[in-house]
Amino acid sequence: MAIQLYNTLTRKKEEFIPLEEGKVKMYVCGPTVYNYIHIGNARPAIVFDTVRRYFEYRGYEIQYVSNFTDVDDKLIRAANQLGEDVPTIADRFIQAYFEDVSALGCKKADIHPRVMENMDNIIDFIDQLIKKGFAYESEGDVYFRTRNFDDYGKLSHQSIDDLQVGARIEVGEKKQDDMDFALWKAAKEGEIFWESPWGIGRPGWHIECSAMAKKYLGDTIDIHAGGQDLTFPHHENEIAQSEALSGKTFARYWMHNGYINIDNEKMSKSLGNFVLVHDIIKKHNPQVLRFFMLSVHYRNPINYSEELLESTKAAFDRLTTSYQNIQHRRESSTDLTNNNQEWLEKIAALQDEFIKAMDDDFNTAKAISVLFDLSKLANYYLLEKNTAVEVINKFTTQFDELFNVLGMTLESSEMLDEEIDALIEKRIQARKDRNFQLSDQIRDQLKEMNIILEDTPQGTRWKRG
Ligand SMILES: [Zn+2]
Repeated sequence: MAIQLYNTLTRKKEEFIPLEEGKVKMYVCGPTVYNYIHIGNARPAIVFDTVRRYFEYRGYEIQYVSNFTDVDDKLIRAANQLGEDVPTIADRFIQAYFEDVSALGCKKADIHPRVMENMDNIIDFIDQLIKKGFAYESEGDVYFRTRNFDDYGKLSHQSIDDLQVGARIEVGEKKQDDMDFALWKAAKEGEIFWESPWGIGRPGWHIECSAMAKKYLGDTIDIHAGGQDLTFPHHENEIAQSEALSGKTFARYWMHNGYINIDNEKMSKSLGNFVLVHDIIKKHNPQVLRFFMLSVHYRNPINYSEELLESTKAAFDRLTTSYQNIQHRRESSTDLTNNNQEWLEKIAALQDEFIKAMDDDFNTAKAISVLFDLSKLANYYLLEKNTAVEVINKFTTQFDELFNVLGMTLESSEMLDEEIDALIEKRIQARKDRNFQLSDQIRDQLKEMNIILEDTPQGTRWKRG
């Protein structure tokens, strides 16, 4: 069986056939780094990290690229408010992003390109679009000539004439048609800018993803992913830019994750129900938040509340307990017989179920229900006072393997006090030795365990977060 995935472009579940056998080229739109991420940003990070892990589990080699939007209106506003410059703010929140998503079990992308580091590449892309007649300069701005791109609207399944009704020219825009969108914006007084053939300015938002995907993955990629809210206009515009330039299909599969509501309401700053990952993981084991996100199919909306997170924690704890009991039995197991076929087959059957669920458009909700079946089977095995080392080991590796696919671990997340003290000692020594890499690594490791360090003149103190 091959992996099936829902393609927004065709509105169908399709068999995944890579461009090149055994390889996946995947691009995921990343955050605008002007603040700590909220749980709406955490969902695509977790969902597509899981997709990536699953491809790896199924033997694919994946090239995973996810950008940072490090210059745009929000960053410029934040810079003005805080009296700092845009790169300083971007650097700070990129760092914060890595801390938050690594606590959530997300691996780093192979490449995290930034707009500021790709300016020549972006300018060149725009220049080529102008030469091909798909874009034009207007008083220092550059716009994409949307009506020249015949397939416009194919991703969001809207005709250009329907879209025209809702389109308008905003104050300050100098475009020729309502449907055109900015590729380059002339600098306003006091704004950060770069030199370009059209004068000083900065790129529009959509162009960065087209330029970076092309640079790092080529003209055609396998999967382009992001939040559902990006389908239109962002992804539609990316398709127009990329396909206008290359004349080839930009992305063969488009994946979009659903929305997050907070207490059954749309999350918004004005409603005050804006939840930052940063704050949640101070109070809760970050793995529980990941487990919560994956307990709903990625395309469905998800409702977040403190109570739901608490009940998720209770469910997660049941699995942990079951795993720990298996570990405990493992220590006392002495039965080395090999006639355990029946049990081994039962465990293997659950692994098949897990794969079947994940092959079906990454149905993590179903996959998690299989993990509960595995835990029930383990509990039953222990209840019968069985002690076959072979079976106990198989349970352990199966738990480890399947949890790892979902980016989680059942290893005890609560560290013992003496383990923490030992690590802190090791860190102090590392700092004395000026081995800052090791000292940072230990700090990050403790942070993942929700242990917060405080370096004071009297020494290092720690507390559980
Ligand atoms: Zn994008």
